[in-house]
Amino acid sequence: MSSQKTVHKKKGEGPGSKKELFTNKAILKLNEKYKPFWALKKSEAVLEWDVEVNMPEKGASSRGFAMSQLALLDQIHIADLYPALDNIRKMQNGLNDYEKGVVRVLEFWRRYYTRIPPGLLEEEKKVAVEGTVVWREARKKSDYKSFRPYLERMLEIKLKEADKLGYKDHPYNALLNLYEEELTVQDIDQMFSRLIPKLKIVLQKVKSEGRFPSSHNLEKETYDQQALVKVNKRLAEILGMPKDRFRMDISTHPFMTSFSRDDVRITTRYEGKDFARSTFGTVHESGHAIYELQIDEKLEYSPIDGAASTGFHESQSRFWENIVGRSRAFVSLTSPMLREELKFLTKYSDDDLYYYFNMVKPSLIRVEADELTYNFHTALRYDLEKRLLSQKIEASELPSIWNDTMEEYLGVRPKTDAEGVLQDVHWSQGMFGYFPTYSLGNVISGMIWHNIRKDMDLEKTIRHGDFSPIKAWLYERIHNYGATYTPKELVTKSFGESFNPDRLIEYFESKYLS
Ligand code: MG
Repeated sequence: MSSQKTVHKKKGEGPGSKKELFTNKAILKLNEKYKPFWALKKSEAVLEWDVEVNMPEKGASSRGFAMSQLALLDQIHIADLYPALDNIRKMQNGLNDYEKGVVRVLEFWRRYYTRIPPGLLEEEKKVAVEGTVVWREARKKSDYKSFRPYLERMLEIKLKEADKLGYKDHPYNALLNLYEEELTVQDIDQMFSRLIPKLKIVLQKVKSEGRFPSSHNLEKETYDQQALVKVNKRLAEILGMPKDRFRMDISTHPFMTSFSRDDVRITTRYEGKDFARSTFGTVHESGHAIYELQIDEKLEYSPIDGAASTGFHESQSRFWENIVGRSRAFVSLTSPMLREELKFLTKYSDDDLYYYFNMVKPSLIRVEADELTYNFHTALRYDLEKRLLSQKIEASELPSIWNDTMEEYLGVRPKTDAEGVLQDVHWSQGMFGYFPTYSLGNVISGMIWHNIRKDMDLEKTIRHGDFSPIKAWLYERIHNYGATYTPKELVTKSFGESFNPDRLIEYFESKYLS
């Protein structure tokens, strides 16, 4: 992509302007035909949200049945679009960027739904459901052996899937592309080989300086849940989340989902102590939500009214959580409110809060990792996934390779498989290729940090508590486009360079070493 700006970004043509993004008659027709599929997908999202937030335990199997039937309807409805898509293929030249985006996204789905036989999809769903149940028990008992047959089965399915989808160079590419279009093993190898050695140096320096603690008294403070619910509500207000388009609920695993750009949901969890785990969950998921809330409304109900990719989505949550939320400015903005609601905080200064929010502690568990050690966890999983899928290692070797690599990366060794190879749900659900997108999200958040500071004093803006300039910046560079561009195109268009891990390292150095 060149640096050419799209038409609707010119002055006076922002949100609310009359300019239509789709003008080509064939595309307008295609978008019309797409609507039942859109409605189906969004209804499925409501059902999935309900599983996590409201559904009684016993509802699982009937809900699973309903969901699989709806998945069959997806396949039928998307097939309705193929003839119209074939017609358009002949006239690609006359299309604008948005219209090309529509064709690209639909072609992507067509490839997926026509290449994967329904039998394989069904088998994957079945093994995923069974495997997840077995995994949950196995993790509780730290019993890798009982989970291993399901993992082996899932690996066979994923390899078949990669073969059906087709790939160049590495079967991992086929699976990676389901989350991050166009991204290859080569890109990810390059990212980690630039990231990991530099992270090791930063981490070593932070450790030897000893300014950032590895534990904090605030971790042990217990809180009243009602009080923290209020804190999270007030945090959402401070972030400017629109009350009439946004909703917060409680679930075991925090997540964000969107039913339309005017109905975006997040969840938070409450564990009784260590309140930052809950509040940063809220800030993280709100970051995801802001993306969905700011996609151009003229894209709504079209195939490109979602995010550019999994990595881009994660870049938003990590930017708000770490770069905004864990900054000194955000501490000073929010600490009066925090002390009002959580009485035990009156004993603690803003400095205490800052270091509590920014502990650096090599840990065994990915979801508890701080921003400096987080990428080691994803690098490890990516490396294992790649070697499993190229059949260089076997599932039986996983626990020992896992433990050795953790020790090499972070100097900590799991005592049980529960704190090692069994900790994440992803593999039981067949989500091979997902982990590297977490790190890609971190890398993009570093690029946002690098670039946004050319246009505003970030610290001052945060301290001031008016986030509209930051949101407007993200809207301009990323949000408004939805999925118009591939992630590779969007990163170049927005930041004038391809994925650059050095920006994240620069951010770490400026925060932790200066
Ligand atoms: Mg996230």
